[in-house]
Amino acid sequence: MPELPEVEVTRRQVAPLLVGRTVASAVTSAPSHLFLTPPEELSARLPGRRTEALERRGKYLLARLDDRSRLVIHLGMTGQLFGEGATSVRLLASTARAALPPEALPGFSPDRHTHLRLHFADGGPGLFFRDVRKFGKLLLLAPGETHARLERLGPDALSAEPAVLIRRVRGRRLAVKALLLNQSVLAGVGNIYADEALHRAGIHPARQAGDLSAPECARLLVAVQAVMNRSIETGGTSIRDYVQPDGRDGGFYDERAVYARRGEPCRTCGTAIERLRIGGRSTHFCPACQEGGVKSGLADFVGPHRRAPRGGVRGS
Ligand SMILES: [Zn+2]
Repeated sequence: MPELPEVEVTRRQVAPLLVGRTVASAVTSAPSHLFLTPPEELSARLPGRRTEALERRGKYLLARLDDRSRLVIHLGMTGQLFGEGATSVRLLASTARAALPPEALPGFSPDRHTHLRLHFADGGPGLFFRDVRKFGKLLLLAPGETHARLERLGPDALSAEPAVLIRRVRGRRLAVKALLLNQSVLAGVGNIYADEALHRAGIHPARQAGDLSAPECARLLVAVQAVMNRSIETGGTSIRDYVQPDGRDGGFYDERAVYARRGEPCRTCGTAIERLRIGGRSTHFCPACQEGGVKSGLADFVGPHRRAPRGGVRGS
């Protein structure tokens, strides 16, 4: 699922395809829950508009248009935003992938999962939004209009100050992993980068958020930003559907420390990576590098009983 780094890589690559160009036509798929603005309204209102900037808030992309309206794009679980001419097997339906002869170039042509096609007045390459599972969102905001989804976002994880996290963990009785996934605390953190950041910070994912000391919060935020910045450098994490807008895979999956590495040795200490469920989400951690998963945090776990790791609460 695309998280902040994948959305930021998308923003950086899509900006040159969008900014300064005037939409000639907008072709959509049929109405569905993906369209928070009805598709016929997008087709009517987007032509003639020029994009002035492409911004990001958490996992949302916001194209600022010349009439001060904003096109909001959320990639959801399987959303793909890419330029005409991009090629990747990830842009093909599974049946088309299976039928592809070896060594064939997987050229893309719009299919039934392509929900928005923007064509431009300059006649240059178009821009496509494709989403197989349709958990993504498209929304056109009138000038000055906002939306509850944007209103409830906390500060962006990449630029938040430590004081923000310190203030937001205070008194919170839930596992720090679950807190990190809450978009109103920090916008943009999802399952992969929460696990990676907690490992980097040496904090057990089941620690009670409210028990974290101020230095631990600061260390955690530094870790969140470090793993995200590194992922952006490598083009993000490609597992199933995510591709960079030019069709390349992201490279961060090969560098991950804990995510989806259950049973494999920790790259820091060699201990086998373990997996738990916290707040319904699969959570990966090193029991040696990340001590302190104590007390009631463990009561949230679903699945086979596991003993609480030994060791006191660090830094408090
Ligand atoms: Zn370790």
